[in-house]
Amino acid sequence: MNNPRKQIVAGNWKMNMNFQEGCTLAAEVVKGFSYDGTVEVILAPPFIHQAAVAEILRGREGIWLAGQNCHQEASGAFTGEISADMLRSVGARYVILGHSERRQYFGEDDELLRSKVDRALQSGLEVIFCCGESLEIREAGTHFDFVAGQIEKALFHLSEEQMQHVVLAYEPIWAIGTGKTASPEQAQAMHAHLRKRVEAQYGPAFAERQTILYGGSCKPANARELFSQPDVDGGLIGGASLKANDFLSICASF
Ligand code: PEP
Repeated sequence: MNNPRKQIVAGNWKMNMNFQEGCTLAAEVVKGFSYDGTVEVILAPPFIHQAAVAEILRGREGIWLAGQNCHQEASGAFTGEISADMLRSVGARYVILGHSERRQYFGEDDELLRSKVDRALQSGLEVIFCCGESLEIREAGTHFDFVAGQIEKALFHLSEEQMQHVVLAYEPIWAIGTGKTASPEQAQAMHAHLRKRVEAQYGPAFAERQTILYGGSCKPANARELFSQPDVDGGLIGGASLKANDFLSICASF
């Protein structure tokens, strides 16, 4: 396969799984996944599971740990928050930023996300940056500009070197946790559009290497068709990442 891009399947557990359940799930994924040098797997458990899941992943190839969020400041009096350095120190390689649930329920806007991205990169984390439109925006027909605007505002101040450490994840809000998946054509159209915007900013060779994941009710039954689209480089998986068999079958869908 001469795909110039990294292919990734990432599981966002959100606020699910108690500690024991989370460790069991991570162990089952590790047992069922074997890295063949192509698709990489990322697990994003809740913060208190991170250190234990890092141990479970230790020494395994092609499978990485991610935080679901981090604070924009390096450290300090921010009760209840977790820093990018803390995530690094337990062995996380990635952090998810810009998830629509963070934007919607925690008021995270483009400006805040820009500072979180900067902090994460300074700490040596790689960023999985989520973007996506509401149903209202899609129905108004402004979704292409809206989603491109999200990545431009939070990411396009980055140098080419920094941007190499960012994976994009297109997640239409109307498809998240709703069972309503974007059609492969809808996903492809948005991914191609985002790649064009990356190309305009960072050049064609860079854009060709930019990994763009799809997220939103991705499951074993639809993953293969979504991942076979030329600009879809894998998935960010919510609900289906909580069952090892479903998640592993998505990982095997390329
Ligand atoms: C997500 O929240 O990132 C997601 C894609 O969720 P789900 O797969 O459950 O739609």
